[in-house]
Amino acid sequence: MKHEYADCSFCGGKVTEKKIQVDYRTGDELVVFENVPAGVCRQCGEKYYTAKVVKALEQMARDKTITGRIIHIPVKSFTEKRVI
Ligand SMILES: [Zn+2]
Repeated sequence: MKHEYADCSFCGGKVTEKKIQVDYRTGDELVVFENVPAGVCRQCGEKYYTAKVVKALEQMARDKTITGRIIHIPVKSFTEKRVI
């Protein structure tokens, strides 16, 4: 299914559809979606999602019957000492 996108609202560039990875937060859970159709600006890389795709992501994130592979994600605290 192809989705329609307006030109980029930041730079006016052409927006074309790509399948991208989305890190989706729901409550204190993080779900990584692959193959999400999104409009990506060819000039600045800004991403756009249609309302229907966002709704589907919300539903799929909450749906416990949809399983995927589990990955381990490190959570690191930012350290000011690293700012040089
Ligand atoms: Zn743009």
